[in-house]
Amino acid sequence: MMSANLDDLSAAVRYALETTRATTVCPFHDEVIIRVGDDAAESHAYERAKRILRSDGTTFEAGALREEIARQLASAADGRCPKCDRAG
Ligand SMILES: [Zn+2]
Repeated sequence: MMSANLDDLSAAVRYALETTRATTVCPFHDEVIIRVGDDAAESHAYERAKRILRSDGTTFEAGALREEIARQLASAADGRCPKCDRAG
């Protein structure tokens, strides 16, 4: 995760969401991203993503970040891993 290429918008947003605990990866299914549902963490993720510097020293455009954060949160599982739910 720490070696992710943060020049990429979706990788940078994913990093910001995970490090602020707005999202978490299922410990049993590492392809499943779970939205924790914490509003404070989600706005913190946005603030963090805004400060990520690309290798050319620039930051991401605010509107693009907001859209990508919304997209990733919308595609994440809500609160619980659906695969664990099915198994349990
Ligand atoms: Zn799971």
